[in-house]
Amino acid sequence: MAHIVIVGAGIGGLSMAYEMRERCRPGDRVTVICDGDTFHFVPSNPWLAVNWRTREDIEFPLAPYLARRQIGFIACGARQVHPADDAVELRDGRRIGYDVLVLATGARSAFDEIEGLGPGHYTESVCHIEHAAQAGRRWEAFVKDPGPIAVGAVQGASCFGPAYEFAFIMDTDLRRRKMRHRVPMTFITPEPHVGHLGLGGVGDSKGLLEAAMQDRQVRWITNAWVERIEAGKIHVAQLDGQGRARQRHEVPFRYGMMLPAFRGIDAVAGVEGLSNAEGFVLIDRYQRNPTFRNVYAVGVCADIPPVAPTVVPTGAPKTGYMIESMVTAAAANIRAVLDGGEPYLKPAWNAICLADFGDSGAAAVALPQMPPRNVSWFKQGKWVHLAKVAFEKYFIRKMKKGTTEPLYEKYVLSALGITKLTE
Ligand SMILES: Cc1cc2nc3c(=O)[nH]c(=O)nc-3n(C[C@H](O)[C@H](O)[C@H](O)COP(=O)(O)OP(=O)(O)OC[C@H]3O[C@@H](n4cnc5c(N)ncnc54)[C@H](O)[C@@H]3O)c2cc1C
Repeated sequence: MAHIVIVGAGIGGLSMAYEMRERCRPGDRVTVICDGDTFHFVPSNPWLAVNWRTREDIEFPLAPYLARRQIGFIACGARQVHPADDAVELRDGRRIGYDVLVLATGARSAFDEIEGLGPGHYTESVCHIEHAAQAGRRWEAFVKDPGPIAVGAVQGASCFGPAYEFAFIMDTDLRRRKMRHRVPMTFITPEPHVGHLGLGGVGDSKGLLEAAMQDRQVRWITNAWVERIEAGKIHVAQLDGQGRARQRHEVPFRYGMMLPAFRGIDAVAGVEGLSNAEGFVLIDRYQRNPTFRNVYAVGVCADIPPVAPTVVPTGAPKTGYMIESMVTAAAANIRAVLDGGEPYLKPAWNAICLADFGDSGAAAVALPQMPPRNVSWFKQGKWVHLAKVAFEKYFIRKMKKGTTEPLYEKYVLSALGITKLTE
């Protein structure tokens, strides 16, 4: 019988654990290894950062929910993956052997690549719950003594939705407090244009997001290369089409939130054949590593090439729907191999995103992710905000119950008349 080990327990890892439990043979063991003992719903982090949510709203302990589904749990970080030896070395020195390994470790926030970037320095981040909670404490202090805001993403970032979300959420929060007029806001992004989203634009995302920014009086700088950040000032070079500095900006801020570039985690980075130069896990169209064929990867840690090269580097976003389809494909393929067959199911690496604006929102659907597309759809409205609030509740409930119901397919795609989850 096989021991299937999953490293990471975010949206990718926890969904994988439940789906693998359901798909594996009687007698197979499933074990989750995680460097924390809680699950947190990352898409709600921007709300935590303005204190519209508490940690308790979006976080729960993993152990009881995994135990209920007969899934083993080790609350200890992986220090190093040894794919040639079929073992994971833990930070406490233990070595856990496996027959099949699924990496679902998300990404490391590469704050170290830019001087002054990140919660240890001058800007906040909403990528991790700890950082979002810190951003929330700083937000309370900021609204007592407001000033300019700088918000956006740095070169190499791939997840732009939360940057736009956070700008608009802060705008909504400040308007509700009747103090928006005291807060000039600048959006800084490596995207070649507003609404590119690492996807080359979706539908009229450019026009609609530019209009939303103008409506909410957010000034923007695109093609931005952040050179360094110091207390109260972001130094930005705005590049031309040839990659030369066209203009330099010193953007003042009293509150700054800049999304970092993502890199793979240390435990997999640098292992020949397992990960690429940035530490993302190499996979084929079946979520399987081409060198170590009993290793799979799902979620943000998996290597997906950028949709199109940009003057300032940007990456392709890996969002919940894509992760859901990666998990379904990986679990089905692992079972096929355990039964003596070959992997057969390809995930639809498509992009679906609901971005909250605080009181409204925007939904993007890109099928496939790479243009030209069969569906390239972008719409804005209050319904997106309501859908996102409802979706948060459904998703957290699903993660507690351990059901494998494909939520994106059921609630988002079917609403749009699209039903394809895998190929
Ligand atoms: C702020 C933000 C908002 C987003 N909003 C949306 C949204 O609205 N809709 C959408 O579709 N997508 C959204 N995304 C994209 C995506 O859905 C999320 O990033 C999602 O959390 C990715 O899931 P994951 O499981 O791949 O990684 P993560 O959620 O990062 O989970 C990684 C897991 O691995 C664990 N781990 C890390 N290192 C180790 C180690 N060494 N050993 C053991 N365990 C380890 C972590 O503790 C964690 O449990 C958002 C992303 C961000 C950053």
